[in-house]
Amino acid sequence: MEQGRQDRGIVVAIDGPSGSGKSTVSRRLARELGLAYLDTGAMYRAATWWCGRSGVDLDDVPAVAEAVRAMPLTMLTDPEEPRVVCDGVDVTDAIREAGLTAVVSKVATNLEARAELKRLQREIIADAAAGTVRNSATQGSGRGIVAEGRDITTVVAPDADVRILLLADERERLARRAKERHGTADAATIAATRDEVVRRDADDSTVSTFLTAADGVVTVDSSSFGVDETFAAVLAVVTRAQEARR
Ligand code: C5P
Repeated sequence: MEQGRQDRGIVVAIDGPSGSGKSTVSRRLARELGLAYLDTGAMYRAATWWCGRSGVDLDDVPAVAEAVRAMPLTMLTDPEEPRVVCDGVDVTDAIREAGLTAVVSKVATNLEARAELKRLQREIIADAAAGTVRNSATQGSGRGIVAEGRDITTVVAPDADVRILLLADERERLARRAKERHGTADAATIAATRDEVVRRDADDSTVSTFLTAADGVVTVDSSSFGVDETFAAVLAVVTRAQEARR
């Protein structure tokens, strides 16, 4: 039988471009509310890693799609320690490497691969909302989930209880990423980060819309906010939605 909305765990969808702060905020939100945490970008990264391991050319569109359909992926969604396991290998750190980051858009712009990852993401979200663990791919904590990415509010979970688009000025996003990667945000480190932030978002925005909010999606602009202020703004949106569900 279908569960009523109030009987299900809450689903929070957060989208935004690179450097908007969505991973930090989403994970903290999941931790504080006792929800599972799903980083969907990590799934595109894992798919890229898997293609490399399987010797699949990332420019071979049908071969990439086939590899993604066969990918033995386990997303561990505990926000205290989210891990990505592919083919029995913990790839959580490997999928963050610069070489992989530079090519992940090839998988993210592969429409067939996207369809398969969307299916997996919906399965994980539905299981977390129902509080069930269907298989090892859906291990998490608590009832409900915070899922973040580029198309969660619009395509993967357009019926989520809370939908937020987290934005920040490009200059601010570049500075944040440069600091994260290189420890400083001077002209040289910002230039070195440009490909990762600006070029990738330009490529990825050909397949999803994550720079303007769809109907019913709440925009939080974190350009002039620190981490705590951003978190407080997002939490306020979620709290309002939780009250409306009661
Ligand atoms: O956010 P992150 O950099 O880890 O995302 C990795 C890649 O996956 C990016 O190219 C991003 O655009 C893509 N992505 C996507 N849809 C999502 C999440 C991420 O296309 N829901």
